[in-house]
Amino acid sequence: MLWVAIIGLVMTVLAVAVAGRRVLFLYKLATVGPPAPERVEYARTHVADEIKAQLVEVFGQRKLLKWTASGVAHFFVMWAFFILLTVYVEAYGAIIQGAITGTPDFHIPLIGTWGALGFLQDFIAVACLLGLVAFAAIRIKNSPKALGRRSRFSGSHLGGAWLVLFMIFNIIWTLFLARGAAAANGNFPYSSGAFVSLALGDVLPRSTLLEEIGLLLHIGFMLVFLVIVVNSKHLHIFTAPLNVLFSRRPDAMGAAVEMRVDGKPVDFEDEDLDPERLGRGKIADTTWKGFLDFYSCTECGRCQSQCPAWNTDKPLSPKMLILDQRDHAFAAAPYLMAAEAGQQHKDTDVLALLEKPLVGEEGVIHPDVIWSCTNCGACVEQCPVDIEHIDHILDMRRYQAMVESSFPSEAGVMVKNLENKGNPWGMSEMKRADWIEELDFEVEVVEDTMPADAEYLFWVGCAGALEDRAKKTTKAVAELLHIAGVKFAVLGPMEACTGDPARRLGMEYLFNMLAQQNIETLNDAGVKKIVATCPHCFNTLANEYPQLGGTYEVVHHTQLLAKLVDEGLLTPVTPIEEKITYHDPCFLGRHNKVYSQPRDIMAKVPGVKTQEMHRHKDRGFCCGAGGARMWMEERIGKRINTERVDEALTTDPDTVSTACPFCMVMLGDAISEKKNSGEAKESLEVVDVAQLLIKSVKDAS
Ligand code: SF4
Ligand code: SF4
Repeated sequence: MLWVAIIGLVMTVLAVAVAGRRVLFLYKLATVGPPAPERVEYARTHVADEIKAQLVEVFGQRKLLKWTASGVAHFFVMWAFFILLTVYVEAYGAIIQGAITGTPDFHIPLIGTWGALGFLQDFIAVACLLGLVAFAAIRIKNSPKALGRRSRFSGSHLGGAWLVLFMIFNIIWTLFLARGAAAANGNFPYSSGAFVSLALGDVLPRSTLLEEIGLLLHIGFMLVFLVIVVNSKHLHIFTAPLNVLFSRRPDAMGAAVEMRVDGKPVDFEDEDLDPERLGRGKIADTTWKGFLDFYSCTECGRCQSQCPAWNTDKPLSPKMLILDQRDHAFAAAPYLMAAEAGQQHKDTDVLALLEKPLVGEEGVIHPDVIWSCTNCGACVEQCPVDIEHIDHILDMRRYQAMVESSFPSEAGVMVKNLENKGNPWGMSEMKRADWIEELDFEVEVVEDTMPADAEYLFWVGCAGALEDRAKKTTKAVAELLHIAGVKFAVLGPMEACTGDPARRLGMEYLFNMLAQQNIETLNDAGVKKIVATCPHCFNTLANEYPQLGGTYEVVHHTQLLAKLVDEGLLTPVTPIEEKITYHDPCFLGRHNKVYSQPRDIMAKVPGVKTQEMHRHKDRGFCCGAGGARMWMEERIGKRINTERVDEALTTDPDTVSTACPFCMVMLGDAISEKKNSGEAKESLEVVDVAQLLIKSVKDAS
């Protein structure tokens, strides 16, 4: 068997050399950009969290298993990779032992003759084969030919995916050929357990040549597969665990990604700050974590299938956002790496490639792509390899907004209003306390410090203070807190916008200004606990202000109200005989995982019958207002709020409920249009959960 060992080892050396060269190339390319020391630091200091993430996300396949059929198939195929490594130890052992002793009857020391191991190997190989059949069926059923744009595979490299399925199939059938032939020849290490291999051993002829061919084919296909993997989207086999390791914990949602220049948090006070370095303008501005995202995308399209922009015919697909950057990075790779090594380029084509703007009419990404994003997080939530689409979009928006001054013109009005008046509508700050006059009890307004008996600072928010529909929620919450005996105070004219719309637009400088002003007010007032009605304010106060030194215990009003109902301090007794469907605000649900409390409150209101929309909780569909989209025109495709209301109407509701002032506006506008066109009944309205609760509590009191 000497020739078998020689061929096997020569093939191995060649394949490892080719694959190794590619890995080196990928490493060099990924490290041409700025560093991301915070990712390493986090992983280094949160070892327990990272181990848990690997166990749950990588080995447990948490996200994939939510997609039952393809998830189960992927679970078995992935575990086949790990378990069948033992078969490769046996295969290499057999060719080496065969060369030395003439008999390839190698077994792994200690465990290598256990029937349980033999069973596990055969079982996972069969499960893997079934997984391949499932994958093939799913790909055919969901092919772009059959579903067009609605296919999650639309835009993916389909040929490469089929090639990989074919290669895995080859690995599995040659595994059984080699093992069956070994069993027929009496060289197989297992006398029981390996049910398929032993059965094949009973039917295959005794033939040393067949066993040798089986071993070489099994090893050969694996080596070809290795080379294909490192040159294709299947690179994710190796990069996905790394991407999970270095992704923002717990899930790259909630707080917007911190803005960094050369790996350090941006300091707008720094006189040496180069204004051209804000955000990402060219591919060379991408950190190695960004490249790791490119390398990890499996092109599965789960993100695309959930994206509200893509689903309403806008040009944004989160998958293509990653793939377009990856393709450009590979096209520019030799020049990027040469530039990094200090070589100057004079060729105009090369320079054009290197300088190609990441965003622009002639850029890698069309501007409509990044401005279509609502930051809803549906893509990040679904991505099985933890790619951080919103972080990419935000960094591109930052460059566009702060360096190029290029963003949808309508948003410019909002920016000016924030700069001049501290709220997006440009209204006088004195109007912020007007709603208080409409109540029949006193509300304390902070002058310098929090009143001694006030437990919570009620953060009213710009919409809650100034927008008519949202003011109803504000008054309902204030009244409920008053009835429950919870002492609170408000900032009134001292409150300014949290800065969320500025930050999501990419105006980090303006966000910093507003945030610092608010943090100073809150800290000076001695605020410890905050309740907010707006999920965007809630998210910013709870998750982003700590980045700037403002740390408070922040709750959303639905969390506090659900607790007060639970404790018996609020008792809904008057029946509301209505069928209600609840819309999950993205910044409350997906970004902050508050799904149950609004539903718990409604469940306590007598008479209410709830009916979920098809897309709810972590798959909830955005209203279209997030990511500063509230302040931009929606000119492309179907309006997102209309799409959401169409879905709500399929439940035939009497009322649509939600827990966000911006969702109220967006859904309310779409409902009005539907009423005008006769598609919705006149009595249909959208209300905040707090309004339902006060109605049931107050009518009885
Ligand atoms: S955050 Fe939402 S809108 Fe933006 S790309 Fe992801 S899914 Fe699409
Ligand atoms: S970004 Fe994630 S969810 Fe989207 S296609 Fe790539 S791997 Fe799939």
